[in-house]
Amino acid sequence: MDTAALRAAFTGPLIFPGDPGYDEARRIWNGMHDRRPALIARPLGAADASAAIRYASGAGLPVTVRGGGHNVAGTSIADEAVLIDLSLLREVTVDPEAETAEAGGGALLKDVDSATAPHDLGCPSGVVGHTGLAGLAIGGGYGWITRKWGLTCDHILGAEVVLADGSIVQASETEHQDLLWALRGSAGNFGVVTRFTLRLRPVGPILYRTALYPLKDAPAALRAFREFTVKQSDDLRVFGSFQFAGDGEAIPAELRGEPILELAVACSADVPESVAQSAEIYASVPPAAQAEETISYYDLQSKLNEAAPAGRRYFTKACYLTDLTDGVLERIVEAARANPSGLSSIDVEYLRGAITDVDPAGSAFPHREAPFFLAAWASWTDPAHDGENIAWSRGTVASLKEWHYEGSYANYAPEDDESAPAGDPRLPRVKHTYDPGNLFRGERHAAPADV
Ligand SMILES: Cc1cc2nc3c(=O)[nH]c(=O)nc-3n(C[C@H](O)[C@H](O)[C@H](O)COP(=O)(O)OP(=O)(O)OC[C@H]3O[C@@H](n4cnc5c(N)ncnc54)[C@H](O)[C@@H]3O)c2cc1C
Repeated sequence: MDTAALRAAFTGPLIFPGDPGYDEARRIWNGMHDRRPALIARPLGAADASAAIRYASGAGLPVTVRGGGHNVAGTSIADEAVLIDLSLLREVTVDPEAETAEAGGGALLKDVDSATAPHDLGCPSGVVGHTGLAGLAIGGGYGWITRKWGLTCDHILGAEVVLADGSIVQASETEHQDLLWALRGSAGNFGVVTRFTLRLRPVGPILYRTALYPLKDAPAALRAFREFTVKQSDDLRVFGSFQFAGDGEAIPAELRGEPILELAVACSADVPESVAQSAEIYASVPPAAQAEETISYYDLQSKLNEAAPAGRRYFTKACYLTDLTDGVLERIVEAARANPSGLSSIDVEYLRGAITDVDPAGSAFPHREAPFFLAAWASWTDPAHDGENIAWSRGTVASLKEWHYEGSYANYAPEDDESAPAGDPRLPRVKHTYDPGNLFRGERHAAPADV
């Protein structure tokens, strides 16, 4: 298909270099990536995506796919590739009886949350509303209620997918089961998902508590967290974040602007039960300040929307950890103290719960048994400081090497991720079936020559 044929077939906007809006359209969330695709195609449906794929294939150009554009390594965009940008496919419709939703391939988490909330339903997903559903779900998907219900990828019931040859297929439990399996957590590039069918869960009020600790008390607080994690109910998620305290009224004067540990708890049991369960975590090490509220799942999901604005410079390196030994705690606190940017954080949490309850054969997600997860999120504004911030994030994770648990979470991996898992041996076969020529960029599951 040549450009004229594409223009005739494609109903959405096509943006070529030099066209008005090209520079705006090629921007993604992470300001680090300044890439220039050969074409930005914004489909209005699967048929448009199919036309863009046939055009790219005919022109010998690779294809990248953009859901919410939040992949920190910028995998959704590449120089001289055709970018299929799904940002006009954000519609979400809910079937409250069946407890399912249909979500466009470009839906953001907040689109899903706002459509499901009026029905007291939700799809477990990530914690920042402007993140894309597609990338997050295809790579796994951790969030506030993951320990209770499982990963986002565990909630993909089906998908409409446009393949490398331009055909449009439905992946479900009865058709293209191998493709559905791979879309559940492999982070692979097998086609363009233009629509997901999602399983929803009942969501009620959630008790949300936060406690702040000065760094000197952080090891003791995290030791209490470590003891608590192994016995906590799956209703709870406890999330530790080392960051710099703001200067709001709720922050004690001596902590303002200082590196601190915030321990946040979200508990979705009945409220009295949640109060009792979550109080224990703070009991042995009294925090310098704490707050508590009972909020809706929707409000919880919206809480961090301002925390990670688009356009700043970001780099993440993450790892799974076998345990939070005293050695781990010592090094995390050291790294928090050495943090070169007031905008960066180190986040740590205990996983397991419902993540391990799912039949591992039903999805390609490779990290179900991982106990703890740590991410060093570097964030800064001045390109002159790229080196020191990237080195801090990498160095933080490298300093914990002794305690690394196998594999690395694809959704937080830098481009040159040397700890990427070898992957399930079935994935290259799925890739070979659906994208033998590796039209969809990304080498994670390239088809081997011998299948
Ligand atoms: C602010 C922020 C908060 C985050 N919070 C969490 C969190 O709480 N939990 C968590 O698990 N992760 C979290 N993440 C990581 C997140 O899961 C990844 O960044 C993910 O890649 C984002 O998905 P996206 O659609 O926005 O990405 P994009 O950059 O648009 O896409 C990333 C990749 O996904 C694939 N893809 C995207 N859309 C499609 C599609 N429609 N069809 C086929 N393939 C597609 C492509 O391979 C693409 O390269 C967060 C990231 C950010 C930036």
